[in-house]
Amino acid sequence: MQIIPLESLKVGANDAHRELVNAQRLPDWMKTKAGKFRQMSETDALLRERGIVTVCQEARCPNIGECWSHKTATFMIGGDACTRNCGFCNVSTAKPRALDIHEPRNVALSARELGLKYVVITSVDRDDLPDGGAAHWVSTIEAVRAELPEAQIEILTPDFRGKWKDVETVAATRPNVYNHNIETVPSLYRWVRPGSDYNRSLELLQRVKRFDSNILTKSGLMLGLGETNEQVVEVLKDLKAHDVDFITIGQYLRPTPRHLPVARYPHPDEFEELKRIGEDMGFSMVASGPFVRSSYHAGEDFARATETVIAIEA
Ligand code: SF4
Repeated sequence: MQIIPLESLKVGANDAHRELVNAQRLPDWMKTKAGKFRQMSETDALLRERGIVTVCQEARCPNIGECWSHKTATFMIGGDACTRNCGFCNVSTAKPRALDIHEPRNVALSARELGLKYVVITSVDRDDLPDGGAAHWVSTIEAVRAELPEAQIEILTPDFRGKWKDVETVAATRPNVYNHNIETVPSLYRWVRPGSDYNRSLELLQRVKRFDSNILTKSGLMLGLGETNEQVVEVLKDLKAHDVDFITIGQYLRPTPRHLPVARYPHPDEFEELKRIGEDMGFSMVASGPFVRSSYHAGEDFARATETVIAIEA
């Protein structure tokens, strides 16, 4: 497979290059499973009725058929417009609207109606708000707890521009898992995550762990943006050094031709090898595979990882 030069990874690469990239075919292992139409429609109707935004749709997640057929979805709070402009992300960049004060309760009711035992919540970046949306996060987590006291909660937050007071406000709700994705290797940040900072994201993860060591911390990376596996291993070392517990590694897929092209599709064996390396480093859970996303099988991974921790401690 042709490797795309790093310099051409910017959004807005020339048309010839774009055609070349579009001409690339998905390898056999990237074929997705079709969902079950009836169950998917039920999930869609339920979420639509309450005006819920999901990252499943916004990110054009390849697992939507499987997850929605099983009535699993990841809620995205804070609206459907983001204040940042990441090169990989399909969420639109625009001036966001005012927060919907009914959203926390609607998320909670939807989680109950879906029968979720493990609730995953993420949000757009709300750099326009003085607290980055921290209070809205708290309201949503509290509403889900009130509606589903037995459910476990995983949150996937922005970096709050390094305003640690806001991070601690959210961490003080004590979710079971606090996830913040590092997304890629530091040398690709200016294309993949302009407006974000590799070291700031590492610091956020470590601060959450130091704030309350009972909160499990999690982070994830995408492969196929132009990084090398050696660079990925360096990121894993950094995450380990910042006390991260869980890791996810998945394949980047280009949501539209306006987004960064896929540089390559690593073979599933490479994902397996990174999983082995991560486990050898001592992470409690490493999910690594072409279709792995932060929230993919998150509840099952959490249960497996905590069983392992309990067994080790017993
Ligand atoms: S993997 Fe996550 S984002 Fe993708 S469809 Fe499943 S729940 Fe939604």
